[in-house]
Amino acid sequence: MTVLEARNLVKEYHLRQGLRTKALRAVDDVSFTLEPGRTVALVGQSGSGKSTIAKLLLQLERPTSGEIRLNGEPVERRGAGLVRYRRTVQMVFQDPFASLNPFHTVEHHLERPIRLHHPGLSRTEVHRRVLRLLERVRLTPVENVAARRPHELSGGQRQRVAIARALAPEPGILIADEPVSMLDVSIRLGVLNLLATLQREEALGVLYITHDLATARHFSDEILVMYRGRIVERGPADDVILNPQDEYTKTLAEAAPNPERRIGELRG
Ligand code: ADP
Ligand code: MG
Repeated sequence: MTVLEARNLVKEYHLRQGLRTKALRAVDDVSFTLEPGRTVALVGQSGSGKSTIAKLLLQLERPTSGEIRLNGEPVERRGAGLVRYRRTVQMVFQDPFASLNPFHTVEHHLERPIRLHHPGLSRTEVHRRVLRLLERVRLTPVENVAARRPHELSGGQRQRVAIARALAPEPGILIADEPVSMLDVSIRLGVLNLLATLQREEALGVLYITHDLATARHFSDEILVMYRGRIVERGPADDVILNPQDEYTKTLAEAAPNPERRIGELRG
């Protein structure tokens, strides 16, 4: 059981403007907790700081201040502790094509994290685990899919491979940064439903990053609304959407007037 906590995270970037440098607070005093079997949605327009939070949680960037705690302990930033952390906190990126290597088969993509995180497994056992991962993300027939390369798959199938790869180390936390925004509208719901099923069945804690309030409401327990690096509103998903208190959330909610209907359209 994994609990990941962000405490008062701040990230400043220093931008050079002529002879001066200007500090930009991409993330400003952000706190939240990810728990097993729950999805938290991080919602906000482009540039509001969502991906920066993802990078901080993945330890691809260091916070300017604040801290990240895993199961109550401050995270380790190097060595074996970092390797363990990377196994526990996994990521699904926005663009599945960019995150997969066109020259390698699906099997190759999935073998690598299995071998890295479980050294010493036999070839047969690694192969068995690859097929099992493909079953978990509903990519069948598994033997056939395992032999294909990314360009032989649809966008939705590629994103399922990326999800399978994230699951390979058996993580407790999954960070999904706009996981369906590059996909055709018609297949978005299938991928989001898969993430919801995995979250339930495998008790994952999920951070679902999106600019889409309708899917945030449908697929999450709690919504955090971000504006210019700050969380301006937070609460149970229905409360935030149906009864927004913050002016910015109201604007967002009005731009997606009827989440029920939107989901209906997505389902087609
Ligand atoms: P979002 O994912 O919500 O679109 P980002 O987290 O990518 O937003 O960006 C938040 C802000 O931080 C933006 O103003 C962006 O330009 C800035 N930013 C992000 N990464 C960097 C970086 N490496 N250097 C400088 N500024 C950055
Ligand atoms: Mg982003």
